[in-house]
Amino acid sequence: MATTKTATRSSEMATGVHESALNELFIDELKDIYWAEKHLTTALPKMAKAATSDELRTAIQNHLTETENHVTRLERAFDSIGEKAVAKKCEAMAGLIKEGDEIVADTEKGSITRDAGIISAGQKIEHYEIASYGTLKTLAGVLGYDEAAELLDATLQEEKNADTMLTQIAESSINQGAKNERK
Ligand code: FE
Ligand code: FE
Ligand code: ZN
Repeated sequence: MATTKTATRSSEMATGVHESALNELFIDELKDIYWAEKHLTTALPKMAKAATSDELRTAIQNHLTETENHVTRLERAFDSIGEKAVAKKCEAMAGLIKEGDEIVADTEKGSITRDAGIISAGQKIEHYEIASYGTLKTLAGVLGYDEAAELLDATLQEEKNADTMLTQIAESSINQGAKNERK
């Protein structure tokens, strides 16, 4: 039919949200954070092991347990929109994890300064996740993916709590302890 052949791209897109470019962007971003979370499940145990204080180590280990659940939630989010859970390399998280490794390599084992560095690296990671989940949750809502939006919001709250926890540990003890250490 002539009308079909001459249909504009915008009118085609109006036919369904699942065929939209925004939907494709959403799924790509979901794949990105899925890669990031999976890699954090191997990076966080190393950060916990490198930490000097029990308080920081315990906080990182607790967030590792949450992170394993973030992976599962993402798999449920993929499932809820009928997509296969596929990871796509997140260059940003790969870089943030690498910077964390460098901080550990550049600070003395058993020092509180190392903990200050691990907290710095950890908060950069949490902020990336907070930005990612904030966007993903909003896009899921716009696209009408209510179940995915709820799952993404649940993880967003845990990332925010993890960030707050790291601030509290830094301000309550680590920063003052590190200040008195010699290089
Ligand atoms: Fe996470
Ligand atoms: Fe990314
Ligand atoms: Zn996190």
